[in-house]
Amino acid sequence: MQAHNGMYIDGEWRPAASDGTIEVVNPATEEIIGTVPAGTAEDVDAAVRAARAALPGWAATPPADRAARIGALHDALAARRETIAATVTAELGAPVSFARAVHADLPVTVAGTYARLAAEHPFEEELGTSRVLHEPVGVVGAVTPWNYPLHQIVAKVAPALAAGCTVVLKPAEDTPLVARLFAEAVAEAGLPAGTFNLVTGLGPVAGQALVEHAGVDMVSFTGSTAVGRRVGAIVGGAVKRVALELGGKSANVLLPGADLVKAVKIGVGNVMANSGQTCSAWTRMLVHADVYDEAVEIAAAAAAKYAPGDPTDPATRLGPVVNAGQRERVTGYIRTGVEEGATLVAGGPEAPEGVERGYYVRPTVLAGVTPEMTVAREEIFGPVLSVMRYEDTEEAVRIANDSEYGLAGAVWAADDEEAVAFARRLETGQVDINGGRFNPLAPFGGYKRSGVGRELGPHGLAEYLQTKSLQL
Ligand code: NAD
Repeated sequence: MQAHNGMYIDGEWRPAASDGTIEVVNPATEEIIGTVPAGTAEDVDAAVRAARAALPGWAATPPADRAARIGALHDALAARRETIAATVTAELGAPVSFARAVHADLPVTVAGTYARLAAEHPFEEELGTSRVLHEPVGVVGAVTPWNYPLHQIVAKVAPALAAGCTVVLKPAEDTPLVARLFAEAVAEAGLPAGTFNLVTGLGPVAGQALVEHAGVDMVSFTGSTAVGRRVGAIVGGAVKRVALELGGKSANVLLPGADLVKAVKIGVGNVMANSGQTCSAWTRMLVHADVYDEAVEIAAAAAAKYAPGDPTDPATRLGPVVNAGQRERVTGYIRTGVEEGATLVAGGPEAPEGVERGYYVRPTVLAGVTPEMTVAREEIFGPVLSVMRYEDTEEAVRIANDSEYGLAGAVWAADDEEAVAFARRLETGQVDINGGRFNPLAPFGGYKRSGVGRELGPHGLAEYLQTKSLQL
């Protein structure tokens, strides 16, 4: 049991302003594994002041020197790989093999990309008679969710620091321990005091105080569309920049001629990864009527291989969901799906057999899902796949785009060109073509209600810059 009482503000761990705490629960054992301080508006204010004081010095630091500090941050994170993986396994329930490969290694990779981009980015350009300067936006308030807790922190903090901004982070209440490890890595990397500050706390208290703070120049938020809408209204109302990375209901389109077995198996794996708690998960699988029954059979068999288990066992592929509320939400969606006429071909709303504790949900496949059903429209955020039927390509495009979201997606076809032609018609921010791999430099973000702005790579860095033109 780790009992923490500090906030990382102005380069040191300081006692929180009030004595409220947040309990961190292991979703596999239901045991309390730690506590962190529940920050208040007073803590947020101290952190924003520290970030403001550090801003002029950091903004004026040559990009190569900023790059060197971010490089040191990369090294400090890489050195903590095992601790990061074990921490995310404990507070999120992610299977440890997945936690190492994704929750630990991905943010290390992303930090590495920003160590390079900080040095290489063209912060000045000549345009006719103008010199255009790309300057830091200022103090950034970052609010992050629990599902990829370190990745989402690094995807905001690293580009903001690379741009010359300073940051106050309010991480999710379910996963604050890995955020503390991040702050320790920042301290070890020798970033100047105040460039990065951490305030743990509840969303409606500490998160809200950060979003509303007059000393914050930009807010970057990742989380639910419901909260993102409110954050956008507050920050937009103050005429400040806002970046929103929100929910998704992405389509995985299998065109006739695609390698059916491969596409279905990878599609199922995509949904089951991280217990389905991935904003970009391909939760709607669209299959041509001619091969629909075959695809459903393959999907059901593939899902059954994701037996829920102890996330500390390296062989486990499916851990619990993050908390009891999330389990209720996900199983509620499975029930709604069946009530509205979908067919359960794998899993279901009951607890998995032999599981006595932990917030586990059975890997579930719903077939016969039609576009108006709740399970085709709303983000479930659990290990639940909806398989949908289409008759021709036009209908496939229509169904894929019939969503208020547009974050990610996949297209499988006989060849890449056919898949690319189809992907051009999709209203979504990212599409993987015939199993194209995740690229940490590719811009990531949503069309429609999935958000505003892009993260990762040079596009993610540009979000934290504002332009000034000098006419010579
Ligand atoms: P959430 O919106 O409840 O919480 C996200 C963060 O916002 C947390 O840190 C929370 O404390 C904070 N928050 C809550 N209320 C707030 C308020 N009033 N003011 C300021 N901050 C507040 O979301 P969640 O349940 O933590 O995360 C799951 C959701 O996040 C899913 O819908 C998922 O799709 C989405 N998500 C999106 C992306 C993306 O990149 N698009 C990535 C991960 C998660």
